[in-house]
Amino acid sequence: MEQPTSGPRDDGPDDTPVDRGARPGAADAGKGDRWIAVVAHPVKSNMTELRREVAEVTRRNGWREARWWETTAEETGAKQAREAFEAGASVVAVSGGDGTVRAVARALVGTSTPLAILPAGTGNLLARALGVSHTSREEAVRMIDEGRHRNVDVMEATLTRPDGSRASELSLVGLGIGLNADIMAGVDEDMKKRAGWLAYVVSGARALRRNAIRVRYAEDLDDVSVSLQRAGVQRAQVRSLLVVTCGVLVGGLRLLEESQPDDGVMETVIAAPRSHLGLVWQLGRLVSRRDARGPDVEVLRSTRNVVVECPRGTEAQVDGDVVGEVTRIEVTLRPGSLVALAP
Ligand SMILES: [Mg+2]
Repeated sequence: MEQPTSGPRDDGPDDTPVDRGARPGAADAGKGDRWIAVVAHPVKSNMTELRREVAEVTRRNGWREARWWETTAEETGAKQAREAFEAGASVVAVSGGDGTVRAVARALVGTSTPLAILPAGTGNLLARALGVSHTSREEAVRMIDEGRHRNVDVMEATLTRPDGSRASELSLVGLGIGLNADIMAGVDEDMKKRAGWLAYVVSGARALRRNAIRVRYAEDLDDVSVSLQRAGVQRAQVRSLLVVTCGVLVGGLRLLEESQPDDGVMETVIAAPRSHLGLVWQLGRLVSRRDARGPDVEVLRSTRNVVVECPRGTEAQVDGDVVGEVTRIEVTLRPGSLVALAP
């Protein structure tokens, strides 16, 4: 993992950027050969301003002119990012909401081309976890040149549907069922725009009326495809089960502050409050930005995988996107498999 060192700094008079070691995407490229690919969601990004900001950073730092890809309703970012990668981009920057970031990241996982997240929209979970400015996009754009590489852990999730079909999803920050998924499913899009995270609270209050979910769960199994029922894993009743790589929750509500996106550990937060009152208390702690752990909350720390079975089917969310009903989730941690730029 390349980390900036505290060795001698290059404070030369010629404004030469400090060499931060390998820029994997451009390992063999000379300084003036580097170029940025920007994959942008045109509705969520202020394109005119974004083009101006990117042009300024590239010009000032001697990069070649940036190349641009816009997402569409059909192609949400993965194809564009793959094209940019194949064209040899030194950095792939993404501007859009969490769905766009996830699609672009998917194309870059396992490669050494760094991802730069230029926040747009309400979520941007990974950007927040990395400390990328979400209030100043100009600051975020500067990171393209000045950012350091972090090898971020991602989660590969295989979802089983009630009809037995399977789908694979990439999660950069967190996925889950129960309260957290109901909250996401119930969020009013208009309200999300106007009220930001408050929309999630209102939605959460609605989700309180839902029933508990019967699940079986296990972690760090040798065989991720094993049936938990057949393996004799005990059943539990939960309100919410959330698997995260780092300590950020939707809308900036914090959970597990000490957990880092690159520490090789994912946390599973299992909330099983015995009463509605317990759940209200928990939600209150979330909203008041305290740690959500309490007497009815269990936290697992896993380095390999987490498997959850919920035979009756329940709605799931991945990085804040509702992905429909599932009966089983297999989550495998891929440590350090995405290179992301961070301040
Ligand atoms: Mg972690």
